[in-house]
Amino acid sequence: MLKVNKNECIACEVCITVCPTESIKINEDGVAEINNETCIECFECQNMCVQEAIDNED
Ligand code: SF4
Ligand code: SF4
Repeated sequence: MLKVNKNECIACEVCITVCPTESIKINEDGVAEINNETCIECFECQNMCVQEAIDNED
């Protein structure tokens, strides 16, 4: 399961752009949030994040 580190995310929206399943949005805290219900774990967002703000979580 992937999770965004809200202390690292700068809301650049690159992850949103690359996600093939539209599973990421900017949430009420102003940072990216992944919907793990629809995420297919392709890791595109993690690979592209300029801040390395997307972490693996079990
Ligand atoms: S690519 Fe990284 S820094 Fe940019 S919005 Fe997504 S999680 Fe945040
Ligand atoms: S791992 Fe892939 S499907 Fe899941 S949020 Fe990231 S880009 Fe989207």
